[in-house]
Amino acid sequence: MRERGPQTAGTSSTSGDALEPLRSHVRDPSYEFDVGPGWRQLVHECHQAGVAEFPHYELLAAKQKWGSLSFQAFPRPWKPGGNWTNAESARLNEITAAFAGRSKRICERCGAAASQRESRELVLVLCDGCETVVPEHGRL
Ligand SMILES: [Zn+2]
Repeated sequence: MRERGPQTAGTSSTSGDALEPLRSHVRDPSYEFDVGPGWRQLVHECHQAGVAEFPHYELLAAKQKWGSLSFQAFPRPWKPGGNWTNAESARLNEITAAFAGRSKRICERCGAAASQRESRELVLVLCDGCETVVPEHGRL
């Protein structure tokens, strides 16, 4: 008997299991998470904190933006006319903001203690070791 996977994942073989639980919350099934390996655990924890209070939250994106984690989510799947209260939206923002704050001190490449580096076009959060390895115009 042939096994049938949920979906062919294209080229995302390196996405890792930490982000797998988030898949069912993503609005666009073809979305590729744009975070480095050092942040995957953090993104996973952000998901866990979010899903604990908003079991059906909708994820639009999880990515690095301006040197911190941008976890863009709605409390529930978006509907015309609204599908959540302002208080719920504020609460979810509070959760994701806490993780954005933590991400500023975690190396996006290796997960070590780090700081924001502004020597490149893109602000990156890197530890001392990774700072010397990632090239001028490089992503991770
Ligand atoms: Zn590092």
